[in-house]
Amino acid sequence: MEILDLSRAVRERLRTASRVVVFSGAGVSRESGLNTFRGTGGLWERMRPEELATPEAFAADPAKVWRWYAWRHGAVAAAQPNPAHVAIARLESVFPSYIVVTQNVDGLHQRAGSRNLLELHGTLLRAVCERCGCSREMGEAVAESPERPPLCACGGRFRPAVVWFGEALPEEAFARAHEASAACDVFLSVGTSGTVWPAAGLIELAHQGGALFIEVNPEPTPFSRLADLRLAAPAGEALPALAAAIEALDRGR
Ligand code: NAD
Repeated sequence: MEILDLSRAVRERLRTASRVVVFSGAGVSRESGLNTFRGTGGLWERMRPEELATPEAFAADPAKVWRWYAWRHGAVAAAQPNPAHVAIARLESVFPSYIVVTQNVDGLHQRAGSRNLLELHGTLLRAVCERCGCSREMGEAVAESPERPPLCACGGRFRPAVVWFGEALPEEAFARAHEASAACDVFLSVGTSGTVWPAAGLIELAHQGGALFIEVNPEPTPFSRLADLRLAAPAGEALPALAAAIEALDRGR
C-alpha cells in the first residue's frame, strides 16, 4: 500500500479537519513483534485473560502473574517502534489539535515521538505498590525479583501499573479521552478489536458526534460498518500511506 486513493469527500474532510483523535490498540504494535490479545495469533489463543490479567488472578497466584508480566516487559523492552508509530507521531505536527488515546501499555508511541498522549490502560514500564501506591521502574523491579513480585518498604507487593480486567480506567485520562472523542473532526482507530469496554465506546461517541471515522485493521471489527474509510491492511503499511496522503493535502487553504 504505497499511494492511497482517497475519495474526494474524505480528502476534503481531512483537509479541513482541526481536531483529530488517534485511538490505538495492540494491533499497532504487532509489527514491532508484540502479540495482540485477540485476532489471529493473539495471546489469548493460548491463555485465558481471566487467568492472568485480573486482580483475582494476582491475589490467587502472584508469582505466576508476575512472571507473565516480567516476560511481557522483556518483550516490550526489546521491541522498537514500527512505521505505524512513527507515522502517527509525525501527524501530530499537521493538525492544530491532535491526541493519541492508546489502550497499549508498551510505551512505543512515546518512543516514536508522540507527545500528546493518554494511556487508558496504564503502563507496563512501571510497577506500583498495591498498598501505598508508590511506583518504580518495572525493569528494575523485575531485575531485582524475576520470579515473584518484590515487596515495597511498606510491606505491600509491587504489581505492574496496568489496568486489569474488572478494574476502573484512570479517571482523568478517560474523561479527557471522552471529551476529545466527542468533539473531534476525525477519529482514526488503529489495531483495536473494539471489544474492550468502556474504551471501545469512544468510537461510538466520535461517530455520533459526526466525526470522520477511519479504521485500520486487517480484520473486520464490530465498528467496521460505521467506517467512512476502512484500510484492511497492517498498520505498518497503512499508516505511512495515510500520513503521506494527508501531508500531500493543501491544508493551508
Ligand atoms: P486486541 O488484542 O483485542 O485486538 C487487536 C486487534 O489488532 C485485532 O482486531 C487485530 O485484527 C488487529 N491487528 C492485528 N495485527 C494488526 C496489524 N498489523 N495492524 C493493525 N491491526 C492489527 O487489542 P485491543 O483492542 O488493544 O485490546 C485491548 C487490550 O489489549 C488492552 O487492554 C491492551 O492493554 C491490551 N494489550 C496491549 C498490548 C501492547 O501494549 N502492545 C499487547 C497486547 C494486549
